[in-house]
Amino acid sequence: MLRVAAVAPDSLASGLGLARGDELLAIGERELGDFLDWEFLAADPAFLLHVRTAAGEEIEFDIERPEGLPLGVVLEPPKIRRCNNRCDFCFVDGNPAGARKVLWIRDDDYRLSFRYGNFATLSNLKDKDVRRILEYRLSPLYVSVHATDPAVRRSVLRNPKAPEILPQLEMFVAGGIRFHTQIVVVPGVNDGEVLEHTLADLYGLGAPVLSVSVVPVALTSYSKHDLVRAPTSAEAAAALGTVVRWAARARGERGTGWAYGSDELYQRAGEPFPSAEAYDGFEQVENGVGAVRYLEGLVRAEAGALPDLGGRRVLVLTGTAMGSLMPEVLAALEEATRARFECVTVENTYFGPAVTTAGLLGGADLGAALAGRPGYDLALLPAEAVNEDGLFVDDVPLGDLIGASPVPVRLSYHFTDALGAGEEAA
Ligand code: SF4
Repeated sequence: MLRVAAVAPDSLASGLGLARGDELLAIGERELGDFLDWEFLAADPAFLLHVRTAAGEEIEFDIERPEGLPLGVVLEPPKIRRCNNRCDFCFVDGNPAGARKVLWIRDDDYRLSFRYGNFATLSNLKDKDVRRILEYRLSPLYVSVHATDPAVRRSVLRNPKAPEILPQLEMFVAGGIRFHTQIVVVPGVNDGEVLEHTLADLYGLGAPVLSVSVVPVALTSYSKHDLVRAPTSAEAAAALGTVVRWAARARGERGTGWAYGSDELYQRAGEPFPSAEAYDGFEQVENGVGAVRYLEGLVRAEAGALPDLGGRRVLVLTGTAMGSLMPEVLAALEEATRARFECVTVENTYFGPAVTTAGLLGGADLGAALAGRPGYDLALLPAEAVNEDGLFVDDVPLGDLIGASPVPVRLSYHFTDALGAGEEAA
């Protein structure tokens, strides 16, 4: 059963009289279980929709609609599928006490993998989930593989019942499903020979495995440090060496890099990032793979359209991961706008200094960094650090930070979005 959260005004759904709170029960004979059923079954130009209204009346609508015209129904958010695993490096265990409720959810949901590119382990699939993935052609899926050796994978996931991933992937490949995959490298567990074998197995599945990213395990001050540690520089370099070798082979044989080290793997290994071309289509940029090169490319491509901000002083706050990489990006912005950009890297005191990404900075840390720095015309803060409710990860409201800041603040994903043509820094 699905419940309507809202109906767009002047839409087909509002014309039918559908309203918030109505339950969408079935299309034809098929029961509606979740948003995937709705999206796939309601894609037909004509169908019978069974509805129970908020008042309890059951109605059947005979719907016909011109191709491409949306119905105008917004569904209530889906119930997230929970995770059966207990990885030592789980981000949930890395939360400080008191973190907001949603941060404690261990989600492992193939539906969100398809819809949003969230990585899922597929270790909690039921037979009916498998059937749906095949019937609805949920492809590509984003899969956390970690290791193809069943014993090693069960150990990484801390789940003795996790099914073998290779036969699972083979079965889906036979059904036409493709994958982006990731391996979170835990030193001493799934690196070295295990990593080599995992990459070989995934490569052996052929073109349906579109990419594999190799990411060093990320820990906060609160993670289970007695059970898991981050790779040393030498361990990261060894893992990167394996990735680079497979990438060279894939490029020679398949014309794509296929295996990619995350930016953090390069940084831990002390190696420079490869060129933007090495990331092909930046398929896993959301997973921190090629994010720096992607940002540089965006800034270069859009810099020409930026306004003249001659003489203005712009403060850029970011995480410590980006500190050494910013000068080149900001130099391009300075050249395009004639403004003076100054970058300040902010240490994360909410999760701990080992967390270096800008998107996980708390409002308290960013606010403290702003407080001591009056005299700028504008401060750019990482937009990904604020959720849809306008809250930083530490629950500080963006509005409070702006109110207390001595500098006008804008959120920015890639600088040029906050310095758009026609806008001038206030
Ligand atoms: S798969 Fe592992 S890391 Fe992901 S939510 Fe489950 S326990 Fe946490």
